[in-house]
Amino acid sequence: MADIELFEVDIWVEVAAKGRVLYFYPSAVASRTGLPVQKVFDRLIQLVDVGYLVVEWEVRCDNYNCPEVLSLSKEPPIGKYFYCEYCDEEIECTPDNTFPRFSFCPGYKEMIKKKVV
Ligand SMILES: [Zn+2]
Repeated sequence: MADIELFEVDIWVEVAAKGRVLYFYPSAVASRTGLPVQKVFDRLIQLVDVGYLVVEWEVRCDNYNCPEVLSLSKEPPIGKYFYCEYCDEEIECTPDNTFPRFSFCPGYKEMIKKKVV
């Protein structure tokens, strides 16, 4: 059964692709659409599967107030350690400090920008 709420996600993505957004996180889409983050994430992954979006996994330092992004990769590197220069400390990649970051496939962005409805 089609879940009509999910079109909200598609519309957000389409509008963002027309603008200056380079990448985004599911939390931003969830707060704009009012949908649960998990639901948004699942839909965004479907958009990755059809080739509209790309997902990368961002590992952030756990330490309070530390702004460092330690790694960006195609798969979440759970269990690996990364050195934080800011804290001078090794940080383990766990599900709690790893965040999916979405960006647009170049072809999708081109197509959306050209589209006239
Ligand atoms: Zn740090």
